[in-house]
Amino acid sequence: MALIVQKFGGSSVADADSIKRVAKRIVDTRRSGNDVVVVVSAMGDSTDELLDLAGDCTPVPAPRELDMLLTAGERISMALLAMTIKGMGVDAYSFTGSQAGMITTAEHGAAKIVDVTPGRVREALDKGAVAIVAGFQGFSRDSRDITTLGRGGSDTTAVALAAALDADQCEIYSDVDGVFTTDPRMVHKAKKIDYITSEEMLELAASGSKILHIRAVEYARRHGVELHVRSSFTSDVGTIVYNPEKGHPKGETVEDPIITGIAAELNEAKVTVGGVPDVPGKAAQIFEIVAGTNANIDMIVQNVSPADTNRTDISFTIPVADGRKVIDVLNKNQAEVGYEAVNYDDQIAKIAVVGAGMRTSAGVSAQLFRALYDAGINIEMISTSEIRISVVTRADLLDDAVRVLHTAFGLDADHDATVYAGTGR
Ligand code: ASP
Ligand code: MG
Repeated sequence: MALIVQKFGGSSVADADSIKRVAKRIVDTRRSGNDVVVVVSAMGDSTDELLDLAGDCTPVPAPRELDMLLTAGERISMALLAMTIKGMGVDAYSFTGSQAGMITTAEHGAAKIVDVTPGRVREALDKGAVAIVAGFQGFSRDSRDITTLGRGGSDTTAVALAAALDADQCEIYSDVDGVFTTDPRMVHKAKKIDYITSEEMLELAASGSKILHIRAVEYARRHGVELHVRSSFTSDVGTIVYNPEKGHPKGETVEDPIITGIAAELNEAKVTVGGVPDVPGKAAQIFEIVAGTNANIDMIVQNVSPADTNRTDISFTIPVADGRKVIDVLNKNQAEVGYEAVNYDDQIAKIAVVGAGMRTSAGVSAQLFRALYDAGINIEMISTSEIRISVVTRADLLDDAVRVLHTAFGLDADHDATVYAGTGR
């Protein structure tokens, strides 16, 4: 008898028929003798719809009330799922995040899990029932308020519960067959990956891959939870995300693939601070000012300064959502920093090529730059980590760039990937 945590995303429970299909799967797992804890997201795109609705009511919704609103989405799907399972003859109870013991920090919209006390979940299991937990939400002991973990946070709920309950398996169900070499909605020849290391998965998630929430991958890595990402529409094996320090799950000695996957991000903007005096301390000053806004800075590039001007340009990327406040704060401090101009460009795309085998192979960057050059695509920024190369291009060239790189690195499958549902929104 195993304890299995199963997480179902919004597109897997988008309507009554989907809920019945998922319930059937849970009932089958329970009837084969397993203890089952289910984490569920809000139905379909309902979180986006609730956000739109809030925006229609007031331009800047109060964060506390927004969390109250958004957590309702998961409460709807958890209750519907529990009653459907009960209707199929298996006992089931739904629990809100706070009932399930998801204790978080107090930051609305971005709360972090600080403790998991799943007493009621255990009690339900002890009674032989299935426990259904609302994803993406918790409770802060400090503020005594309901919180959310940030968009896509249900994955993290599932991993945290799997760790706290010492589950045997943590399955993340989606509307595609697993983790793909790139988004199969964009590149039809994307290939399913059978095994991927948590470090590669982290790089992909950080670079725009939406299949797993980055904090879920981090949490899983830290707590030794192996993830199985698979489709809720088939019973096929999906992708295993494992910690390479603990060895390959099948005990195989595998050569790290040079390139495992390609991620893309459109919601980033490039800020260029032009004519910065080339003297010590200016970069520190600029990035301290930007850090004050809590914006997440990614790539940073500083140009060499021509000897006659002794001024340089510094460019960096930030999420589009942080654009306004970053520009405002830079404008306010222009005289103090002494730069000449600031430029904001949100028509960019960021593409990241990731692979653990990059550590030990030469020439990957050259191959990447050559492939983009052959396709006539200009590179505006470059940054690298040990196992990742990221480039910035024009936003309208994103699809072409990803397709070209996917082919150049030999990732194309010989058939089209199946996307069972969802909008990828
Ligand atoms: N429903 C939330 C969202 O759409 C959480 C999740 O799906 O994981 O972001
Ligand atoms: Mg969702």
